[in-house]
Amino acid sequence: MTYIAEKSRYEDMKYFRVGKSGLKLPAVSLGLWHNFGGSDRLENGRAMIHRAFDLGITHFDLANNYGPPAGSAEETFGRVLKQDMAAYRDQMIISTKAGYYMWEGPYGDWGSRKYLISSLDQSLKRMDLEYVDIFYHHRPDPETPLEETMAALDHIVRSGKALYVGLSNYTAEQTAQASAILKELGTPCLIHQPSYSMFNRWIENGLQDVLDQEGIGSIVFSPLAGGLLTNRYLDGIPTDSRAGGPSVFLNSNSITDEKLAKVRALNEIAQSRGQSLAQMALAWVLRGGRVTSALIGASRVEQIDDNVAALSRLDFSEDELKAIESILA
Ligand code: NDP
Repeated sequence: MTYIAEKSRYEDMKYFRVGKSGLKLPAVSLGLWHNFGGSDRLENGRAMIHRAFDLGITHFDLANNYGPPAGSAEETFGRVLKQDMAAYRDQMIISTKAGYYMWEGPYGDWGSRKYLISSLDQSLKRMDLEYVDIFYHHRPDPETPLEETMAALDHIVRSGKALYVGLSNYTAEQTAQASAILKELGTPCLIHQPSYSMFNRWIENGLQDVLDQEGIGSIVFSPLAGGLLTNRYLDGIPTDSRAGGPSVFLNSNSITDEKLAKVRALNEIAQSRGQSLAQMALAWVLRGGRVTSALIGASRVEQIDDNVAALSRLDFSEDELKAIESILA
């Protein structure tokens, strides 16, 4: 069956400018960290990519190590792109990253020029692409000089293998330093990818100020706290959920009674707004316009539908915000 994208896909999605750049990203972007690997069902991954694009999600976020096995999410994405969506390449923003362990020996991890450039070449092969739109350094490297890592990012853009570069998991101070180097090199940092959700607010303590000052956009990962800020765990831990599986990032130990009490209280506010908890959690990270895009994960098509519908109610009353703060306190 040939895939033809939904005609109305740009009507309801909101697109926000990334910092002071010329690029816009959808308010909701789709990440392929979980559920798109070689051990997952290809047809489910394909259906989610199609549905996301049909809803106006133009941005797909990958990394060299997404799978499992590492690299296989890029292969899945490349396959779907080539088989069904090649005609839409210019309507998509595809990102990948390097910075975590990828291959054995001293050149398959962290932030050397050697690692970043070799890894991007591998990613391009796996996705069968000539370039990615955004290439990230995935985490700061305490040993490699920042100048070397930033020069590698600059080189990658100049060589045409990426259109823009970004940083992920850098602190406020590291971001300010990296941004200064990149500006000097003539390849400004487009975007930062930090974690952020109602349960994880570290970026409010300095990072967001640096991003505003530097004109850098932000795309926040795990805005649903990996599924905790949804209705997924209200009645126990389903076997087909992230916490019910082998994930080390969300497991039954992270779902404490204390957390669940907060989730239930937040769920009541969401219901009073006529939203699912996932929808309110996404509206909350986007409140105030400081975040460019909420980077969600999904295990099924219906979750993507639910999440994108958050955009029909992004505003919060003062009372709602206060009530949320008191639950989170
Ligand atoms: P989320 O916080 O959005 O969690 C996604 C999970 O929440 C889904 O897998 C699903 O869990 C559940 N879920 C999603 N929508 C709904 C819904 N409407 N109702 C009920 N449950 C829902 O984000 P992730 O942690 O998955 O991260 C998103 C992306 O961020 C990644 O794919 C990756 O691209 C990026 N990322 C980047 C990192 C970095 O270091 N730069 C680190 C981590 C992520 P279930 O599977 O249980 O159904």
